[in-house]
Amino acid sequence: MKNQTAVTGLHHITAIASDPRQNLDFYTRVLGLRFVKKSVNQDDPGTYHLYYGDYDASPGTILTFFPWAGLRRGRPGTGQAYATAFSVPASSLAFWKARFEQLNVDHNSIEKRFGDEVIAFGDPDGLRLELVATREPDARPATPSKDVPAAYAIRGFHSSTLALSNARATAAVLTENMGYTLVASDGHRTRYAAGEGGPGTYVDLLTDPELPRGLSGAGTIHHVAFRVPNDATEVAAREQLLAAGLSVSPVIDRAYFKSIYYREPAGVLFEIATDGPGFAIDETLEELGTKLGLPPHLEIHRAQIEAALPKLD
Ligand code: ZN
Repeated sequence: MKNQTAVTGLHHITAIASDPRQNLDFYTRVLGLRFVKKSVNQDDPGTYHLYYGDYDASPGTILTFFPWAGLRRGRPGTGQAYATAFSVPASSLAFWKARFEQLNVDHNSIEKRFGDEVIAFGDPDGLRLELVATREPDARPATPSKDVPAAYAIRGFHSSTLALSNARATAAVLTENMGYTLVASDGHRTRYAAGEGGPGTYVDLLTDPELPRGLSGAGTIHHVAFRVPNDATEVAAREQLLAAGLSVSPVIDRAYFKSIYYREPAGVLFEIATDGPGFAIDETLEELGTKLGLPPHLEIHRAQIEAALPKLD
């Protein structure tokens, strides 16, 4: 049965890091993203949850981290969201390659993927990142940055690549239960798009037999969140996934959005999150990232939580 699930693309992607200061410096200064929310891990309020994105903290631009100082590195591999790609303007990779060389960012040479130029690089924990200089239109605005000129700036996510030993069951969930369609295939990589397609909607399934089994730890992805427009589409998506036999969490209020969680058949943790209400609910758009955001049940412990968290500057 074909579905009506209105997943419109990627919402946010959450990864695991070690040192929070090093993480903040890399994503804001090196990559030129905006620090849009400083919060805590709701399951471990002594540690941060850090969010980076565009100026407006738009869904489809948000990369978030749970940083634990001293945490050992994981191993990117199968059974994980393996690489996270950002969209940058066509012809911008020469700038980025020179920047990575100047700042000693670990990176590969420029390659071609589905006709676009791609450069793969790593963050300080070895998280696998990519910049896709796409020929497709991407009207999303550049994030203002004193370090990265607007002509080269990241526009938001391009795609998430899942590494799988066998893609069949995952592809079925994407296409039969989440509204994705197959758009391209090349070698071990198959691309799926949500909604209208374009940068920010893609999921690539990679079945490279050379890849090891992934192990969780610093420098690996924790989960991939997809976006839906509102609460009603979230509830409809949940009902459809349940009807397909997946084990899906209840709707959880994350303050900035409402979420459901489930594991796709290869074990990657998926989330579906609402576009609203967004990140400007507990601080103004101008102030984003400056005040510690806490869920209501932790607000009474604010003083203790703030005192226990490491300083970021
Ligand atoms: Zn999430």
